[in-house]
Amino acid sequence: MSQSNTPTTPTIVKCPTCKKEVEWGEQSPYRPFCTKRCQLIDLGEWAEEEKSIPGAPDLSDSDGWSEDMGH
Ligand SMILES: [Zn+2]
Repeated sequence: MSQSNTPTTPTIVKCPTCKKEVEWGEQSPYRPFCTKRCQLIDLGEWAEEEKSIPGAPDLSDSDGWSEDMGH
C-alpha cells in the first residue's frame, strides 16, 4: 500500500518570451521556451547586443589609417 500514492507531477515552467506554461520534458524540445519561435526571439535579442561590439575597435583603427594617409 506504500506505492498507492506516487503521482508523477510534471514540472511546469513559463516561457520567458510569451509566459506560456511549458511542460518540462522530452515533448518540449525548446524548453523553457514553448516553441522554436520564442527561442529565436530570445536569441535574437542577444545577437543584436553582440553586433554592436565589433564596431567599436574599428573606429580606433580607422583613426590610425587617416593619420597615415595624411602623412
Ligand atoms: Zn513562448
